[in-house]
Amino acid sequence: MKPSIFDLSHDELKKILTDNKVSGFGATQIFDWLYKKWEFNPENWSNVAKKTREFIQEQYSTELNKIVWNGLSKDGTRKFLVKMYDGQTVEAVAIPARDRLTLCVSSQVGCAVGCTFCHTATQGLKRHLKTGEVVGQYMSVQQWLFDNVGPEEKLTNIVYMGQGEPLHNYENMKRATEIFLHERGLGLGQRRITLSTSGLVPAIEKLALDFPPVNLAISLHSARNDVRTEMMPINKVYDLDRLFAAIKKIPLKAHRRITYEYLLADGVNDTMEDVVALAELLNSKESKINLIPFNEFPGSKYKRPSEQKIMWFLDQMIKRGFTCTIRTTKGSDILAACGQLKSEYDKVNLWNKDEGPVVIPSIANNVVQNQTTR
Ligand code: SF4
Repeated sequence: MKPSIFDLSHDELKKILTDNKVSGFGATQIFDWLYKKWEFNPENWSNVAKKTREFIQEQYSTELNKIVWNGLSKDGTRKFLVKMYDGQTVEAVAIPARDRLTLCVSSQVGCAVGCTFCHTATQGLKRHLKTGEVVGQYMSVQQWLFDNVGPEEKLTNIVYMGQGEPLHNYENMKRATEIFLHERGLGLGQRRITLSTSGLVPAIEKLALDFPPVNLAISLHSARNDVRTEMMPINKVYDLDRLFAAIKKIPLKAHRRITYEYLLADGVNDTMEDVVALAELLNSKESKINLIPFNEFPGSKYKRPSEQKIMWFLDQMIKRGFTCTIRTTKGSDILAACGQLKSEYDKVNLWNKDEGPVVIPSIANNVVQNQTTR
């Protein structure tokens, strides 16, 4: 199988073309065709030398990943199942909000981190996604939206919050980010990309050295080590002291803050003790807190707190000077949970070409999370 052209950064493509004695200038033209003109057939790259086009056709695949299923929620959220070249599938979710259309992409097939509130964790890690498979989720979904919704349906933001721990797949996510940001690539602004991590400390320490500067979200979920370890076994290895020692080394540009994701689970991390610990741990000027009320699923060990409790927690953090928001659950009426989504799709053919996605009520009614809550 040929490697994907979407695996390559601009500089890598330029070097490959130069090393193989075809024009290095072709890299810029090829990037223009792929990422600006959305033309994936090398035969139509009219300003690229024939020798260069032939070289690309022989050595690389320019095909997009296939969307094998999609579902539309009442709130406008669209979930896509994207098939990789080896038949593995991952999910990507397009989430509309005011003037934005954010794509939540996956970084791995499955995940090794094992958070106890997450369906993806039950799959274990199958493999890392390649750079081209991360970029490919964006390209395939955008192409699908252009073809099926209209040219105005443009993705504007990306979050790395789908299946997988992005920093466990560091090099591929770094290269994908370079392509998302590169002026000859997709040209997205740094503030339009958010990397979310469960707290892989060695990789966080490396971020400041060589990862493109994008927004950072940390999945905290508790400011108490014992509770965090129960929810996220990674805390046994990289506890709060180690995590925050690494975070403090990240140089924050003026007016930029780190977002802390906090999944609220009834009776687990939503008490006054938790409020106090959280307020002591975080600096209100450098942090934003995003509360995510837990959405139950069959077999889940946690419960969603009452609305009153959620509002109480929010109020407590705001009173203490924090910028604190509640993430609204989107896409709860479509098949939406990580892991469960994928395994159920494998068993049945859910795609009806003429009528669109077929929803199986027994699954749809049970599924609540629209993305991992790392
Ligand atoms: S929440 Fe994220 S890091 Fe944790 S197991 Fe799920 S996919 Fe992995």
